[in-house]
Amino acid sequence: MTHYGAIEAGGTKFVLAVGDDQFNLLEKLSIPTRKPEETLEEVVAFFKEHPIDALGLGSFGPIDLNKDSETYGWITNTPKLAWQMFDVVGYLEKALKVPVIPTTDVNAACYGEYRFGVAKGKKSAVYYTVGTGIGAGAINQGQFISGLSHPEMGHMKVVPHPDDDFQGACPFHGNCLEGMASGPAIEKRTGKKGDQLSVDDPTWDFVSDYLAQAIYNTALMLDPEVIIFGGGVMKQTHVLNKVRTLVTQYMNGYKELPALTDYIKLASLNDNQGVLGCFALANDYLENKKVLESKVN
Ligand code: ADP
Ligand code: ZN
Repeated sequence: MTHYGAIEAGGTKFVLAVGDDQFNLLEKLSIPTRKPEETLEEVVAFFKEHPIDALGLGSFGPIDLNKDSETYGWITNTPKLAWQMFDVVGYLEKALKVPVIPTTDVNAACYGEYRFGVAKGKKSAVYYTVGTGIGAGAINQGQFISGLSHPEMGHMKVVPHPDDDFQGACPFHGNCLEGMASGPAIEKRTGKKGDQLSVDDPTWDFVSDYLAQAIYNTALMLDPEVIIFGGGVMKQTHVLNKVRTLVTQYMNGYKELPALTDYIKLASLNDNQGVLGCFALANDYLENKKVLESKVN
């Protein structure tokens, strides 16, 4: 039987998983992210114990996803210095001797929702994670939207809320979307983690405002059929209604959208959207290979 592997590679943890050909989750393990070799040795040991036929990798970035590039599959200029210019795909393919299909963590989650979750049956979707960082993955007609490598929507500029004097937490841009609305931005602004803030803390008005600006921009620029939110900060589900109200205000009737309860949704796969997206990438690769081989033979 075919087995698919998944790695959700994050800055704090790596989630490793194995699924069968029906996409049932058979094994799942979370390990802390350390230096590349140290982390990947444990990854390799896991997949040697639970063999797979192909591996989907949803990685923190930036990761070079341009197949024509000499550094395809490398983590590039990340602030996590030990991982800078590290060939993660090459390392895994060499050690495991299976094809590795890389994408961003948010693309993988977007694809999970597209194949199995709230975006199933749609032709296009955008998935935002609001957690340690903010990022978004986008799919149109079954393809990830990319060009030079992959989008970086989490770092879009947002207009500061008039009552928000926080200068922002992004080391590159200060008050970009991630700098203003990520989990660490909330913590830096208030001295408390998001889950310690009361529901009526004004911080939620600011966070909702920045996320609404992102949705407004996304709706206008990419025109997806659905926009999905995941990540730790979105466990504050009250934020979602504020975001919907503000999107309506900002759009001001200009672009017709579906009912916002259908258009702006929470992730639906119990935090397995990334893993399932990785399984689906592995499945696509193997199916495609089968088709190609049948044409050759
Ligand atoms: P990661 O981005 O590392 O994959 P998460 O998506 O869980 O992980 O995001 C972690 C961030 O989300 C942390 O900054 C944390 O403080 C914040 N967070 C986690 N749970 C909640 C919650 N219930 N309410 C608000 N913020 C939360
Ligand atoms: Zn930024």
